[in-house]
Amino acid sequence: MIIGIVGGGQLGLMMAEAAHQKGHTVIGLDPTKHCPLSTNANKMIVAAYNDKDAFHSLVNQSDVITYEFENVDSSFVKRYEDMIPQKQKALLIARDRLLEKDFAHSLDIPTPRYKAINQISDLFYPSILKTRTGGYDGKGQVKLTTKNAIDQLSINDDLMYILEEYVSFDYEISVIASRSMSGDIVTFPIPINIHKNGILFQSKVYRNIPVHIQQKAIQYTKDIITALDYVGTLAVEYFVAGEEVLFNEFAPRPHNSGHYTIEGCNVSQFMNHILAITGEELIQPTLLSNTIMINELGQDEHFHATMDKTICTYHDYHKKSRKHNRKMAHITCISNDLDTLDKQAIKITGETNEY
Ligand code: ADP
Ligand code: MG
Repeated sequence: MIIGIVGGGQLGLMMAEAAHQKGHTVIGLDPTKHCPLSTNANKMIVAAYNDKDAFHSLVNQSDVITYEFENVDSSFVKRYEDMIPQKQKALLIARDRLLEKDFAHSLDIPTPRYKAINQISDLFYPSILKTRTGGYDGKGQVKLTTKNAIDQLSINDDLMYILEEYVSFDYEISVIASRSMSGDIVTFPIPINIHKNGILFQSKVYRNIPVHIQQKAIQYTKDIITALDYVGTLAVEYFVAGEEVLFNEFAPRPHNSGHYTIEGCNVSQFMNHILAITGEELIQPTLLSNTIMINELGQDEHFHATMDKTICTYHDYHKKSRKHNRKMAHITCISNDLDTLDKQAIKITGETNEY
């Protein structure tokens, strides 16, 4: 089949790698000529995401369309929804944190306390103030821990905000799930995600999450993916606090915390995404080995130089320029010995992961 991918970042690149394994052809659409996907796609359309003609041309040349990021023009997705198995609904909800939390509530899935904010007098602390739209990798967020922080805050009147209770969680997890056209759902082994400055730093899949926590998170995720009538791979992030599993957000696409599946599982999140959108049956994921995934950001150039190649794999995204906090690559380490993994992660990053 010919698969059109809207968005040429690393997710598009890894989708294309899976698509090629299945013998598909890939056409990408991205405004940047030398984007990660351009190194692997059969053809690229270089144009703005909101370029109607370019989108139309992609649709005309493809059998099926997938998007790899939330900011794709949702009116285009609506117009060509028959060809886009992920559909519009997931996109519209995921891109607005208020709609997203309301949606979780409508499914009886617990979230941190939250409210829409229109003026400073509505603020409470400890909390996190987030822009309703446009935020990612911790951008568009301010942590409010003191009354003073609130007093000194200035709110941009052009933006809409949501305020969330600051949760002192024990750890963060994500459930990566794929749903097929016939409605079958599979979920991947659950990683524990460690963030640094709001950006994913490491995902650990150490088979150490209590089963009842996993069951809750998996059930919530299945409820979400079904209610969205979504086809493809999707990820839901949760905070685990005691016995509580609190919904944080979902992403209607493969997710950074699922990159570990390429080496860590019998099937990757990208492969199940491709199988789903091309109408094939999904593969039930199993963990092959304990795994840790480490992101390499612009400032972490030295990371892969120190990795042990016998247990680690380096995924270079082939980005043209290095920038602080830009995701440049990731490293996946696999070993059944947890001590080996922990030591390897410390060697690579130079840090213990107390975040
Ligand atoms: P992004 O879209 O940037 O990933 P998130 O809402 O997931 O936005 O926030 C990024 C990170 O910030 C989370 O993974 C978590 O570590 C922290 N965070 C976000 N919201 C809260 C909260 N309500 N309480 C505690 N930590 C939070
Ligand atoms: Mg997040």
